[in-house]
Amino acid sequence: MKYALVTGGSRGIGRAVCVRLAEMGYHVLINYLANEEEAGKTLERVHEAGNSGALLKFDVADHAQVENVLGKWQVENPDEYIEVLVNNAGIRKDNLMIWMENSHWQDVLDTNLGGFFYVTRFLLKNMLVKKYGRIVNVVSLSGLKGLPGQVNYSAAKAGIIGATKALAQEIGKKRVTVNAVAPGFIKTDMTKDLNEDELKNLIPLNRFGLPGEVAEAVCFLASEKASYITGEVISVNGGLYT
Ligand code: NAP
Repeated sequence: MKYALVTGGSRGIGRAVCVRLAEMGYHVLINYLANEEEAGKTLERVHEAGNSGALLKFDVADHAQVENVLGKWQVENPDEYIEVLVNNAGIRKDNLMIWMENSHWQDVLDTNLGGFFYVTRFLLKNMLVKKYGRIVNVVSLSGLKGLPGQVNYSAAKAGIIGATKALAQEIGKKRVTVNAVAPGFIKTDMTKDLNEDELKNLIPLNRFGLPGEVAEAVCFLASEKASYITGEVISVNGGLYT
């Protein structure tokens, strides 16, 4: 059995990635923060895609929870290792910087950037020992371009992009790759408060993207086919950022 872990797999882009990985033959470990019902729906979709999976509830921003839950999984599965990691869990708490509270800054940095660090560090060792691994980080157009009202989120996503490039150079010799996918506006709960009719005029392809369209890029980078790509960022944004 081959194992993949998707953080924030209960909804949106993470769910689409879980389903695609199941289609690729992975047993999918679906991480989520609180939404048990939606996480259960993702697991059903994984089963419908013809594969097995399990729910792993933990807060990626909480170092102790990451170590406890993933540590327990490893103890219960001593001969197995997680060869694909998709760091997808993310939140946004937008405000102009002048009004931004410490908690808005800290929460967004902790979940997006801290989550990447804690989960990746835990799983990296086995990937290096086994000399195969795929890490894909879901970042954002905001992390490449910077978007007003998102100083916190842009900083966190840009931080992950820098970490992706640095880590790629540390681990390439062990056949472990790490890449990032930067979506633009994608139809999920995260963007349901945005006005698509207005914003689509800024997008050359004239619409928001679908979670499945991001999942295709993520799962290509997570596949063996992407064997000579590392430290790279692929945009999936309808042509918005050029
Ligand atoms: P979403 O629909 O809001 O779903 C967020 C997911 O992250 C949920 O599964 C949620 O779990 C999980 N999550 C949040 N905080 C977590 C934590 N501390 N620990 C564990 N899981 C946590 O978001 P989405 O739009 O699919 O976004 C997925 C990723 O794409 C994020 O990194 C986001 O920044 C990035 N992105 C999205 C867009 C877009 O337009 N949608 C654009 C660019 C980048 P619960 O269900 O339990 O709450």
